[in-house]
Amino acid sequence: MTLTRRAILAGTALAVTPIAGPSFAQAPATPGTAAAGAKQAPGFYRYKVGDIEVTAINDGFAKRPLEGFVKNAELSLVQQAMKDAFLPSDALPITFNTLVLNQNGRLTLIDTGNGDSGAPTAGTWMANFRAAGFDPAQVDTVVFSHFHGDHINGFRLKDGTAVFLKAEALVPATEWDFWMDDGKMAQAPEGMKGAFQGVRRVFAPIAKDVKRYEAGKEIVPGLTAVAAPGHTPGHTAYMLSSGNGKLMIMSDLTNHPALFVRNPDWSAIFDMDADQARATRRRMLDMAATERAQVAFYHAPFPATGFIARDGTGFALVPIQWTPAL
Ligand SMILES: [Zn+2]
Repeated sequence: MTLTRRAILAGTALAVTPIAGPSFAQAPATPGTAAAGAKQAPGFYRYKVGDIEVTAINDGFAKRPLEGFVKNAELSLVQQAMKDAFLPSDALPITFNTLVLNQNGRLTLIDTGNGDSGAPTAGTWMANFRAAGFDPAQVDTVVFSHFHGDHINGFRLKDGTAVFLKAEALVPATEWDFWMDDGKMAQAPEGMKGAFQGVRRVFAPIAKDVKRYEAGKEIVPGLTAVAAPGHTPGHTAYMLSSGNGKLMIMSDLTNHPALFVRNPDWSAIFDMDADQARATRRRMLDMAATERAQVAFYHAPFPATGFIARDGTGFALVPIQWTPAL
């Protein structure tokens, strides 16, 4: 038979003639066969950086209207960038991906997802974390990149319950100084007050135990904090190193790569200092491209890791090949 474009579009191309040999379509359902609509496989992916085992844990996604999302580009250009990436042109699906570092059983999280405070399509983090074989009671350290709700809310349930019972919390000192400043909260526009209150909800009960870290320091073995300001005042990226392995953990250096890796000068609505964020983004994407370093982004499509290639006036995220650690 001839495959025509019309037949493919009509979905009939392969249905007409069974493929020669045993017909898979007619095979009887075996016990345990997933029914249509059965749950997706858990969203975790393990890979190695030197001797360190890294696990990306997905926390679902949230849709944001495209209109107004990029502050300094015409909507039509943003819609075209979405189209070029085969994404919807009305709303942006933003995914959330945290990392777990496992160093001989010592567990470090980088950010915690939305917890029970996010969109109905988010909040899958705990199920995926457990499916990956982890237990929140066993987490030793939680490192926070910055204080936006999608990164910190998973640390404490809405009712106030702490999620990681023995974990120490490591936060960027600059970020702490900004968000915990009552004067800054009083001056903030109405729309931002909720973010200040959210930070207090999560951290106030353990304020005296929170450890504040400085950029440029190795904060857990192999993990060095890198100042990446602009998205927020203390927004932090990381360099993870072990043996010959390196991973640049970019946090929210960009929101969706199809928009902001591709167009690094565009500003997302969440970037608090757009000019500073733009300069930081250019510098770090350029470094990743030059060094051909593996990168991880919090808001990239799962498993949210790959490489940065130069592409025209911007860059492109090249996904990594599926290469599980085990
Ligand atoms: Zn974020």
